Amino acid sequence: MSTFSAARKGRRFQPLTFLALLGIHLAAGLAFFPWFFSWPGLILAVLLIWLTASHGASATYHRMLSHRAWQPVPWLRTVLLFWAALCLEMGPINWAATHRLHHRESDHEDDPHSPLVSFLWSHMLWLFFDQPRLVDKAELRKLVPDLIDDRELRFFQRWFGLMWVGFAALTYLAGYLAVGGGMPGVQLGLSLVVWGSLLRTVLVWHNTWFVNSVTHLFGYRNFNTEDESRNLWWVSVVTFGEGWHNNHHAIAGTANYGMKWWEFDPTWWSIRTFQLLGWVQRANLAPHLRPQELVRDFPGKYSAKSPRLLRRPERLALSLLRRLGNSPAALVKALHSRRSNVREAAALALGNLGASAQEAAEALRQALTDRSLRVQEAALKALRSIEAAIDSAPSSSTG
Ligand SMILES: [Zn+2]
Ligand SMILES: [Zn+2]
Repeated sequence: MSTFSAARKGRRFQPLTFLALLGIHLAAGLAFFPWFFSWPGLILAVLLIWLTASHGASATYHRMLSHRAWQPVPWLRTVLLFWAALCLEMGPINWAATHRLHHRESDHEDDPHSPLVSFLWSHMLWLFFDQPRLVDKAELRKLVPDLIDDRELRFFQRWFGLMWVGFAALTYLAGYLAVGGGMPGVQLGLSLVVWGSLLRTVLVWHNTWFVNSVTHLFGYRNFNTEDESRNLWWVSVVTFGEGWHNNHHAIAGTANYGMKWWEFDPTWWSIRTFQLLGWVQRANLAPHLRPQELVRDFPGKYSAKSPRLLRRPERLALSLLRRLGNSPAALVKALHSRRSNVREAAALALGNLGASAQEAAEALRQALTDRSLRVQEAALKALRSIEAAIDSAPSSSTG
């Protein structure tokens, strides 16, 4: 079974979600026609990107609800839930449940959106399939026991779609009336809808999705977590600080994600401002790392329950073993491939052969100085498992 079909297992295709996402993407394309442009439309879009992506998705859905990292005063919570609703990214309860599942099962089979399945799957394809664990009320309660009975959250969970439609309609009306109706009114009203709701929503969607796809693939790590999470500056630019995703996976319960002085986090600046204004009841702070500190080992608190998904070199290693048989000589040849993931896969495959790959040990020792860190790691792992296989061989024959 391929990784893709394994991830899709038991999940039904949702044609309505697919059509809604496709429709809004197509409608957002109207922004390319100059007739739909207006300066108020552009200003509204920029302002709403900040309010919905930073104050809504990041500060509210993610940091406040999914991780309980901070708590605002009640009136502010209501305002923030409204900005979050305008993201049109599920309701608060389902968003938090999906995300908690992601943390518990990161890059394992039950992770709702691991890029180890495929980049596109983690970015958006996963959204087109239902989540059995969210549909099953008992399972949902297990994931979000603290949120599921909250009346305000249930209200937003139920009506967030209508709020999005209502808000778009209101901006149309405001634009129409602002210039006294007629054709100019229609034009301004529609530009506020196209820029402030349609295009803005699509941009916020993809920014949020980058966190699921890109920052589980590319970037650097401050912590050796059990998942593939990474820190990437440009994802932090477009998501207002969510790009320090490896920091976040290591220590998830903090309201701020930057741990080195230059790891900027605009969403935290907003929360800190609310705090200075006296609107925050509680906020957990992340520890500070010095720039020269090396990657820290951080096995993580939760151990995932489903099988680990294989990274691409690991999958490649299995197919190399299948294709080349148990021939260390052929694998040694692959160890000199120009592509680093093939070299990594070959080292991993040699490790799997154990004692029978003893003749390849010299080539693996050379691979310890490979220019790719991943190849070095795979070679070291392979050498260790060959040594272990040799050590255990005599004892198993006598025992
Ligand atoms: Zn999180
Ligand atoms: Zn993640």
